[in-house]
Amino acid sequence: MKFLDKVGGYASDVWQSAKAIGQGLSVVFDHMGRRPITVQYPYEKLIPSERFRGRIHFEFDKCISCEVCVRVCPINLPVVDWAFNAELKKKELYSYSIDFGVCIFCGNCVEYCPTNALSMTEEYDLSAYDRHELNFDQVALGRVPYKVTEDPMVTPLREFAYLPEGEMYPHDQPADIQRAGKRPEEILAEIRATQEASTPAS
Ligand code: SF4
Ligand code: SF4
Repeated sequence: MKFLDKVGGYASDVWQSAKAIGQGLSVVFDHMGRRPITVQYPYEKLIPSERFRGRIHFEFDKCISCEVCVRVCPINLPVVDWAFNAELKKKELYSYSIDFGVCIFCGNCVEYCPTNALSMTEEYDLSAYDRHELNFDQVALGRVPYKVTEDPMVTPLREFAYLPEGEMYPHDQPADIQRAGKRPEEILAEIRATQEASTPAS
């Protein structure tokens, strides 16, 4: 009886091992049919999605020094340096800065700025050797935003969510391919159509 138990245990172990090897090999064979998807940064860059919250752009001439951006910021980050000009009877802006080493890119300041002086850009490569270089003044913040799709030195690549269904390899895709998910304007059009259909005719 003891011998039979041992044989049974041994057979069970062999079966479990074979199962584990089979599972491992199935993953290997699955990946053998796929092509590499590494992005050769900085020669290739992923195109950020719509509504991507990257480096903030600031327009000095639009700013009225109201400091709303400071009040709505979770860490009161923007530094607005202004003084009241008695002659003009209005605030005069001297300097404006945001430290991207601290910013969490929540977008609150952009959302609440009453004059739309702030906007989020697609820029995501903000690395620097010195963290103090990430403290952008109004000149750095006012720089025209960089776009991956408009840089002749960069090959823009789509993220997986922006590829057609089942497509894994972004390198050979034409610029006008239909992506798997719906675009925001398509979703909006659908919502409007549903609302119109459910509104009773007067
Ligand atoms: S909220 Fe806008 S207008 Fe007001 S200080 Fe900030 S950037 Fe300037
Ligand atoms: S994005 Fe958010 S954290 Fe950054 S400055 Fe604006 S409000 Fe503050």
